Amino acid sequence: MEQQKKLEVLRHSAAHLLAHAVLELFPDTLLTIGPATEEGFFYDALLSRSLKEEDLPTIEKRMQELSLKNFPIEHRQISKQEAREIFKDNPFKLELIEGIPGETVGLSSQDGFRDLCRGGHEASTGDIKYFKLLGLSGSYWRANRENQPLQRIHGTAFFTSQDLVDFETRREEAQLYDHRRLGRQLEYFSFEEEAVGFPFFFPKGKAVLNVLVSYMRKLYAEYDYQEVETPMILSDELWKRSGHYAHYKDNMYFTTVDEQSYAIKPMNCPGSILIYKHRPRSYRELPLKLAEFGHVHRHELSGVLHGLLRVRAFTQDDAHIYCTVDQVEEEVRTILNIAFRMLHKCEFASVDLALATKPAKSMGSDELWDKATNSLKAVLEGYGKPYVLKEGEGAFYGPKIEIKIKDAMNREWQCGTVQIDFFQSDNFDLHYISTSGTRERPVIIHQALYGSLERFFAILLEHFKGNLPFWLAPVQIMVLTITDAQKQYAQEVYSALKKHGLRVNLDRSSDQISSKIKAAQLEKVPWMIVIGQKEVDAGTVSVRYADGKQMLGVALEKVLSMADELNR
Ligand SMILES: [Zn+2]
Ligand SMILES: [Zn+2]
Repeated sequence: MEQQKKLEVLRHSAAHLLAHAVLELFPDTLLTIGPATEEGFFYDALLSRSLKEEDLPTIEKRMQELSLKNFPIEHRQISKQEAREIFKDNPFKLELIEGIPGETVGLSSQDGFRDLCRGGHEASTGDIKYFKLLGLSGSYWRANRENQPLQRIHGTAFFTSQDLVDFETRREEAQLYDHRRLGRQLEYFSFEEEAVGFPFFFPKGKAVLNVLVSYMRKLYAEYDYQEVETPMILSDELWKRSGHYAHYKDNMYFTTVDEQSYAIKPMNCPGSILIYKHRPRSYRELPLKLAEFGHVHRHELSGVLHGLLRVRAFTQDDAHIYCTVDQVEEEVRTILNIAFRMLHKCEFASVDLALATKPAKSMGSDELWDKATNSLKAVLEGYGKPYVLKEGEGAFYGPKIEIKIKDAMNREWQCGTVQIDFFQSDNFDLHYISTSGTRERPVIIHQALYGSLERFFAILLEHFKGNLPFWLAPVQIMVLTITDAQKQYAQEVYSALKKHGLRVNLDRSSDQISSKIKAAQLEKVPWMIVIGQKEVDAGTVSVRYADGKQMLGVALEKVLSMADELNR
């Protein structure tokens, strides 16, 4: 059995153990369901009193006792009639019994505890050794808000104590390095009641976003993209034509201008298309690559908002490439090159690719689909990296490549997409004049590599645990003096660094050098330049890195060239 399957069996058994313990401690509890999940298991129950966090250690302790008693876990099929008798006081289980097809249902038992279940367990409760209860939350019977509210107890279980320790460390880290917490601590961004779900970026947070934008601009320039800007507010008519009105209206914001209805753009594509359509285009202009750092607004329900990971307004590094079918392969190869350079720069070592192909309902001829899909396959195969084929999971208007990354805490994120589009070109009646003088439809490739700049920023913050690398840090260098006697020289060094275009600060306080260093560390500044009398006399500086390593007596020229190297 593969590891994940084995874990599932263990965690499913642990859920029974939890239910067993809860029932012993709170005998009038009505159990409902308790499945294994990706990170552990949970059990939903109706208790006569509401549980508190303080109850969890007690429940956990009872689970340990039941584990030590090493009760064999038995499972057998029984008739529905027998099951109805056993669970006659539990309306939830009775409802479940009726929902199971056939004449029999599964029953698992350990000591006196019995639960309705399909089976797949450890041999005995003693096999469930390394577990932990993680928390409480609310739920509803059958996940329906109209139904009975229930209490959910979350937990997890592993085969070794080391696995459990590792899990707890990762979980603590995830809380410690939560981007919302870091963003507040470091004064990068905030959320205010006056605009729920719309982030406020402070000077340092905005500096990071600007670095991401400049870096992408540099790549755009290298690969012949041209930057455009389209309006944020566009007539309803456009959104009706683009199909957003029919499919995306609930997520859009609207406004009225001169008694006409307008929408705040949720996507940048229609605006870009209007630029293409402005005048006739020749094959000589293709591929035409129009990029836009487009600020889009999308209405999300307040319950799903989550820091910068899920907001109601964000900036996409969006690009639309208008090209011929024959150019698709080359263009997609270029896009992946850009993506890999960017992800490498951001120190994401693990990148996974997936290709989503033609769904059952689609538009565009088979020939067009085959050609585009084969182009994407050729590019992916050219990379020599395995990719996942998601048959039938493409959009109805074309196949796409998804780029997934894994962060330092081993969590997976999908950021980049490369979407081929046969639909909007037809829909907006786009064309170009071919070499033989005929009017042809261009293909549109939608490209977004960071995806949302705000979300990418959040992922980076967590990935680097708040310690953004030199090229990305809002303050790259902090200049510190050992005593006030070096202030004049420090001012000169600071000015020179600033003039060189580096993001630098000078600590002008008269604090002890140790507290100045401490302050710079808390601010997570990657380099400190420490100036004492020795440095003043020699006309040099000392560099102290965030990890405590130092370079003593360095010429300022050398510091500038080291910085340039990292900023490149
Ligand atoms: Zn079971
Ligand atoms: Zn687009």
